[in-house]
Amino acid sequence: MPHVTYPGFPRIGRRRELKRALESHWKGDSGADELLAVARELRQRHWKLARDAGADSVPVNDFSLYDHVLDAAVLVDAIPPRYRDLAARDPLAGYFAMARGHQDGDVDLHALEMTKWFDTNYHYIVPELEAGQRFAARPDKVVAEYLEARAAGHVARPVLLGPVSFLRLSKTVDGSDPLALLDTLLPAWLGAIDALADAGADWVQVDEPTLVLDLDAAWREAFRRTYAAVAAHGRVRILLATYFGELGANLELATSLPLAGLHVDLARAPDQLDAVLDALPADRVLSAGVLDGRNIWLSDPSTILPRVDRLLARLGNDRLWLSTSCSLLHVPIDVSEEKHLPAHLAGWLSFARQKIAELRRYADAVAGDDAARKTLARQHEIVASRQASGDVVRADVRARVRQLTPQFGQRRSAFSFRADVQRERFGLPDLPTTTIGSFPQTNDLRIARAAHRSGKLDDDAYAAILRDEVRRVVRFQEEAGIDVLVHGEPERNDMVEYFGEQLDGYVFTSLGWVQSYGSRCVKPPIIYGDVARPAPMTVAWSAYAQSLTDKPMKGMLTGPVTMLQWSFVRDDLPRADVCRQIALALRDEVHDLEKAGIGIVQIDEPALREGLPLRRADWDAYLAWAVDAFRITAGGVSDATQVHTHMCYSEFNDIIEAVAAMDADVISIETSRSRMELLDAFTRFQYPNGIGPGVYDIHSPRVPTEAEMADLLARALRVLRPDQLWVNPDCGLKTRGWPEVSDALRGMVSVARAARERL
Ligand code: GLN
Ligand code: ZN
Repeated sequence: MPHVTYPGFPRIGRRRELKRALESHWKGDSGADELLAVARELRQRHWKLARDAGADSVPVNDFSLYDHVLDAAVLVDAIPPRYRDLAARDPLAGYFAMARGHQDGDVDLHALEMTKWFDTNYHYIVPELEAGQRFAARPDKVVAEYLEARAAGHVARPVLLGPVSFLRLSKTVDGSDPLALLDTLLPAWLGAIDALADAGADWVQVDEPTLVLDLDAAWREAFRRTYAAVAAHGRVRILLATYFGELGANLELATSLPLAGLHVDLARAPDQLDAVLDALPADRVLSAGVLDGRNIWLSDPSTILPRVDRLLARLGNDRLWLSTSCSLLHVPIDVSEEKHLPAHLAGWLSFARQKIAELRRYADAVAGDDAARKTLARQHEIVASRQASGDVVRADVRARVRQLTPQFGQRRSAFSFRADVQRERFGLPDLPTTTIGSFPQTNDLRIARAAHRSGKLDDDAYAAILRDEVRRVVRFQEEAGIDVLVHGEPERNDMVEYFGEQLDGYVFTSLGWVQSYGSRCVKPPIIYGDVARPAPMTVAWSAYAQSLTDKPMKGMLTGPVTMLQWSFVRDDLPRADVCRQIALALRDEVHDLEKAGIGIVQIDEPALREGLPLRRADWDAYLAWAVDAFRITAGGVSDATQVHTHMCYSEFNDIIEAVAAMDADVISIETSRSRMELLDAFTRFQYPNGIGPGVYDIHSPRVPTEAEMADLLARALRVLRPDQLWVNPDCGLKTRGWPEVSDALRGMVSVARAARERL
């Protein structure tokens, strides 16, 4: 029968054991031994869990204390010079210094940069390379973990990040071409292969996810050269793993590389199945990623089983591996741990452990096991029952989406006209000051929220605490002289969770943690059904805050694309449709805010840019529905209502047209760290609407000097019209403390006032 395996497993542990062990070690509360013991225990537990669920072999070195790309850098000794002393003295301390910085006496090492792993919400550490860089094989970790798995009786397959993807994901500090390093990198990388072969490894999985990106001739040639050398080197059988999409134009390249096996993503790209089968040479193993490693839905056997049948018919048992589309890193571990989900809903879900069990079922079924076929038949009924569930498919929501017309996305008048109406209404000074929404989430607030959740603090007492906080935030802003106020968002735990909990169609797990980076985890909500808003969500808070002041109070919402992007999304409806449902629900909120006298509403879309598909050919379609969803949310309000949006650190060059098409009256963006360079896209485009480029970095407790803020504001004034410029920080202030927020915002106001004088 087909071989069952998976490309990788979550590392953090069902109860985030690794997070606790890491944070205790970083605090100095526990030694390296204790941390490494927890890590070993998690690896052992996860391999056993996978084997018990039905895996025939397990990946190793998918585990990481912090990040697998950082591990790949260490594997070839690509440790930037500034960390070398420390790393030589204490390798673990050196490793964490690269991951998160290190301060000790005179030593002050900054962390390496971090960025998003393809289009996931996982962030990897960006290796830093330079021209002439040397590499050396440091295979201790991967060899040790391989031997550990073998000793525990597993059929183990080491996983390495491929050399080409490694270079592509790295950055060079000197701007040199990373590809120029390929010839020096390869011998070191092959040294790791040798060490694994010496240890007895048979198959090695080499991850080259960049094969699903648009590749130019140089990168394609790099693949050919690399894998010709790897094949000539021999010693182990290589499974070349591609994931996160279809091979597309790289299909011929991927199948022609002279390796023993190829892994392809058949969840995101099921349509490539025939082309892959046709192109695959007859001596190759195909590891078919038939189940989605990025999502949490139980698969529908009526779709998957025929696919597996077809794969088996074409390949035979010896050449077919059944796997998930990508590493299970992106899903939680075990749905059977969820005690508070409605039973029918839990039955629709499949986390890492369940996915491996599903693979086993498919393998058994195609091998003629009747019991497995029967179980799959039942599974089909369970999945099909989703469609019959009244909260999954709601006639009212569907009808509303069907009745959408372009009218819904329209403001009544063009921006230039609205701007005059709004100027009249609000009478704001030039260079108006505002903030992005949240104020410090103090310890007292967190304690109160926890007490409220656990029932120790009743609704009234909790609301009283929140009202006090709103009052304090409003008073402070008035005193500081800010022009457009916010209520401070003290009632919100998280910008998505707060809304998800109040919308129909969303559900929350108790232990559905997914690693975001290092020890940081997120618990994405699950959008399982049609989204609707049973009642207003923010109106009472905004109205209360407005009642405390004569200054305009800005209402604060999380936008539809961000609500989608940071959730697990149902797999039975196109994302664009789900997004439209959310947009309509939020639109009602906007209109209710307007009715309650809130004249300014901000719709945050920090995740809009990160939703961009991996391939350029897919960008326009995405941007069209994303912009449309924003416009539906903001549409239909009066000209006098001012719509803001906010987008954190993101490049705008590629999306400036889309951002302009959103037609928000004001957009605030994160620009301080780039020293206003991010404004270039706006000035080149002659972006007409209001812009608030952040004049100070909120990621650090450091209070910016007035001179720094004045300099940034002057830079912005050089390229923007004074009547379109707003003055605000980069992002929300919830992670900051009051003392620094107070100083920084007072400074910001005085800088804006001084600049006004000079206009
Ligand atoms: N309004 C939110 C806040 O201020 C925006 C957060 C964000 O952009 N990530 O916290
Ligand atoms: Zn932000």
